[in-house]
Amino acid sequence: LALSGCSARGNSDAGSDSSGGASNVQIKKGDLIGVALPAKTSQNWVLAGAAFEKSIEDAGFKADIQYANAGNPVPDQQGQIQSMVTKGAKAIIIGAADGSQLGTQVQAAKKSGAVVIAWDRNILNTDNVDYYVAFNNFKVGQLQGQALLDGLKAKKPNGPYNIELFSGSPDDANAKVFFNGAMDVLQPKIDDGTLKVVSGQTSFSQTNTQGWLAQNAQSRMTDILTKSYTNTELDGVLSPNDTLARAILTATAAAGKPNPVVTGQDSETASIPLIMQGKQYSTIYKNTTEEAQAAIDLVSDLADGKTPKTTEDKNNDNGKKIVPAVELTPILVTKENAVEAYKGNDTLEELAKKG
Ligand code: BGC
Repeated sequence: LALSGCSARGNSDAGSDSSGGASNVQIKKGDLIGVALPAKTSQNWVLAGAAFEKSIEDAGFKADIQYANAGNPVPDQQGQIQSMVTKGAKAIIIGAADGSQLGTQVQAAKKSGAVVIAWDRNILNTDNVDYYVAFNNFKVGQLQGQALLDGLKAKKPNGPYNIELFSGSPDDANAKVFFNGAMDVLQPKIDDGTLKVVSGQTSFSQTNTQGWLAQNAQSRMTDILTKSYTNTELDGVLSPNDTLARAILTATAAAGKPNPVVTGQDSETASIPLIMQGKQYSTIYKNTTEEAQAAIDLVSDLADGKTPKTTEDKNNDNGKKIVPAVELTPILVTKENAVEAYKGNDTLEELAKKG
């Protein structure tokens, strides 16, 4: 119990729980907590497993941590959740492979008396999710949109700027929220002519990247460059995460184009050197350890009979209800603040210092 309540929820205490949280909570210390994670589509998911294992043990529970297989993630994850229910897990924490395909499984989990927590990604179209623990996704998008504008201005003070837009995977509820947050900042600048999306592809359905796969972003970028940029320069690209940012940079380099301003997310170790060299303009830091700890603190509160503090955020409307959330605050990182932003994370701080 010693570590529960450490720094994880410093910025999540706005709002208060109404009727939406878990009722009839059964979990107590020593019980099994199931953690169902999606395939490892980016480094944050790789880090999540170990972070959960430690925080669950430190808090005095038992852990069952499973990843969905990349080849067949949806049925794989459905089976894993079902088996957590069978094993008697009293809290089930889910990073959804596909947020709209878990209705049956979370219903079974609730029926068995487990608390259901959507983690990082929301679970859609069901009442059977008690809480959502994540970084504020809309804020992530706004930071990305603003970073793109700032990066463009730093490169040349006056527009108009030619840009392209990329969003994440449509089966991930976060993807649309990231995009909406970014467009909240970018749309007015498109409307006033400062930004020009030369391909004309500006909607979520035109810009999304199935499976968050690098190869899909790379081929879409290549295609757009061929069709729309033979006689014109590409100044910037909105990328929803680091994996896709690197794929976009691979495509622009292969097409012999100058390095555009590109955003990102996740502070992946492969992207920090690119940021320090000025090749990728920005990323977002979402501390995975804190995010896991926030979920386990919530479970500890419930086990202690306390009502967790949650926020009601309309971006967390899952189609049935606004899921009561614990929302952490994302940090924008550029070359300018990287060393400072990563203080306390030895691996990332080292990389930032190395330049
Ligand atoms: C996460 C991002 C990640 C993406 C791809 C999203 O749900 O919030 O951090 O980049 O999934 O794995």
